[in-house]
Parts: sequence; structure tokens; C-alpha cells
Amino acid sequence: MVNPDDKKRLENIAARLDRLRNVPTDVLADIVRSQGLCMWAYNDDDPADMLTGIDTPDRELALRYCAGCPVQDHCLEWELRTQGTDTVGIWGAMPESDRRALYPLWRARGDRPGEHADGGEPE
Ligand code: SF4
Repeated sequence: MVNPDDKKRLENIAARLDRLRNVPTDVLADIVRSQGLCMWAYNDDDPADMLTGIDTPDRELALRYCAGCPVQDHCLEWELRTQGTDTVGIWGAMPESDRRALYPLWRARGDRPGEHADGGEPE
């Protein structure tokens, strides 16, 4: 159950992602792969291994890991489109628990190109 403050925060994030609605999924992928901070700056362990399943430390970990990344929203939009509620780890400066809670709010804002209703890549 998402508390009202979290729901408002997630609704705002979903609304913010509307600006990327018409960006094709393959373009998002190219942007994240070429400009995502973690794609070139880190060679340490996967931060997802440090997720605790507890909201506050997981959010802080995700924010720290993605701090300074210039394509956080692109990353989040790409992950929501391609993984849906199967999302795992840290993407878009969010832990998986927040992205799963965000997903239905984001879905409710309308379809995206190349995205299936249940998440997952188009065939
Ligand atoms: S938002 Fe985070 S996970 Fe996504 S590309 Fe940037 S650093 Fe990597």
C-alpha cells in the first residue's frame, strides 16, 4: 500500500515523464547507453546487491548511485516501458519497489510507442 505522500510524489514523477512520451524506445535506449553515468563511470559491484527492501535506505542508495546522471528520466522511462512491474535493481534514480509503485500511475497516463501493456519489449 502506497501512502498518500508517496503517491503524490510518484504521480508527479509520472507527469514529469510525459515529456518523453513520443520519444521512440530505441532512441531512449541509445541515449541511456551513451550518456548514462553508470554506463561508463563505474566499475564497482552492482548496487542492486545492496538493496534492503526497506524504502528509505533503498531510495537513498538509488539517489546516491544515480547522482549527477544527466539522463535519469530517460532511464526511468525506458525501464518502465521495457520491464514494467518486472523491473529489478536501480534504474532512473529509483529502487525497484518505487518503480513498481510508479508503474500503474505511469501506465494510467497513456500508451507509449513500442511499449506493451504488461511491460516487456515489443517482438
Ligand atoms: S539514471 Fe542511474 S541507472 Fe540510469 S543510466 Fe543514470 S546512473 Fe545509470
